[in-house]
Amino acid sequence: MKHMSDEEWTLYVNDQLDDKTREQYEAHLFSCDQCLSVYLEVVEAQEQQLPAMTNEEVFTDTIMMKIKQQNIPEKNPSVSKFYQKPIFHYVLAAAMTFILMSTGVFSHLMNVVSEFESNKKQDSSVVEGLMDHTVSFIDKVQKESEKEAKK
Ligand SMILES: [Zn+2]
Repeated sequence: MKHMSDEEWTLYVNDQLDDKTREQYEAHLFSCDQCLSVYLEVVEAQEQQLPAMTNEEVFTDTIMMKIKQQNIPEKNPSVSKFYQKPIFHYVLAAAMTFILMSTGVFSHLMNVVSEFESNKKQDSSVVEGLMDHTVSFIDKVQKESEKEAKK
């Protein structure tokens, strides 16, 4: 009996042979070391290909499920706890101020204020208005964080 090729053993591994042919292949496999090694190579190659080729979506879903299952009990409560802490809102306000300053928006605002001041038109009212806005913003943040803390 002649030896089987890689392709033929691939058909066998993928169960694409009729019963009679498969029995012949199996009988040959038990009596031929050369074909056994080819068969093992094909099995190894198929094992590497199968998840990527036919089960890619299932594989990805499974991975995503595992990631979600691991994250939900750990991450989400800590995130919501962090949101509930009043310090978060102060840090947020400080970060916003820092961003405004570092992007030049803050200094631009200050220039506008000093322009108004030099014009001597609205003098202190602009500064007071800006201060009021800042104070009301801090008030709002405090009230928000108190509300969050009560929940
Ligand atoms: Zn053989």
